[in-house]
Amino acid sequence: MAVHGKYDQPCPKCGAPVQRIRYAQNECNYCATCQTDGKVLADRGLSRLLKQDWPRTLEDLEELRSPKA
Ligand SMILES: [Zn+2]
Repeated sequence: MAVHGKYDQPCPKCGAPVQRIRYAQNECNYCATCQTDGKVLADRGLSRLLKQDWPRTLEDLEELRSPKA
């Protein structure tokens, strides 16, 4: 997988920030644009934190992560 270990770095293919998902002891990096058609996969920690407000797209996720000026 080209984006393995590249969490928060730009994807070598498309330049979108690489996303991270965690399962217990394992961590998986993926590009939402190239690998999941723009969908953000549910991360345990984040989904618990956000509850119903889980972002469904990369744009939504970036909005959540950006500080509101
Ligand atoms: Zn990509």
